[in-house]
Amino acid sequence: MNHSSGILYIISAPSGAGKTSLVKALIDAEPSIRVSVSHTTRAMRPGEENGVNYHFVDRAEFIRMTEHGDFLEQAEVFGNLYGTSQSTLQQTLDEGHDLILEIDWQGAEQVRKQMPQARSIFILPPSQQALRQRLTNRGQDSDEIIEGRMREAVSEMSHYDEYDFVIINDDFAVALEDLKAIFRANRLQQGSQQQRHSELLKQLLA
Ligand code: 5GP
Repeated sequence: MNHSSGILYIISAPSGAGKTSLVKALIDAEPSIRVSVSHTTRAMRPGEENGVNYHFVDRAEFIRMTEHGDFLEQAEVFGNLYGTSQSTLQQTLDEGHDLILEIDWQGAEQVRKQMPQARSIFILPPSQQALRQRLTNRGQDSDEIIEGRMREAVSEMSHYDEYDFVIINDDFAVALEDLKAIFRANRLQQGSQQQRHSELLKQLLA
């Protein structure tokens, strides 16, 4: 592992667990952390922006990119294709930025195989009822889609035990502190500190 590089994080959660809001709050507090923008074939939701939330592409373009070997990982989730492109990932880490991949468990499995140094975090809702409430509150999908998303959520959650860290998002502020604590503790690991404070260590040990 190259200790001068940033740390790669995988964050997974069922839809409605509050992952996106938590990650946004984390970045607001610690702007040096970067979030990878995935490619997807799903339709844009109101309020979303191309190139910001996702790179929105059609299936043909996605398949072309897959065949070209552009993706570090990719998966089909709820009928749509999602993928993490390789291009900016290594560069961001080499620049020393911690980088977050917000991906599902299938993508997480593929990333762990290729980059075993990645740390993974699973975010859970406090109850099924709260999850259903959050999915309903979005008000953008039909009952049938919400039930489908509930089934999908339970199936996603069954993979929590493949992750290094688990956060329960009951109280948002507490969950955010938990998330910050993981990033902080990882930065304090000996190898990272050795790199960051090489001058100080040289002086201390002279
Ligand atoms: P949504 O469509 O609600 O934004 O995301 C649906 C699911 O796709 C979430 O579980 C999200 O983590 C996952 N997802 C988003 N981007 C990627 C990606 O690049 N790769 C993989 N494997 N999953 C992704």
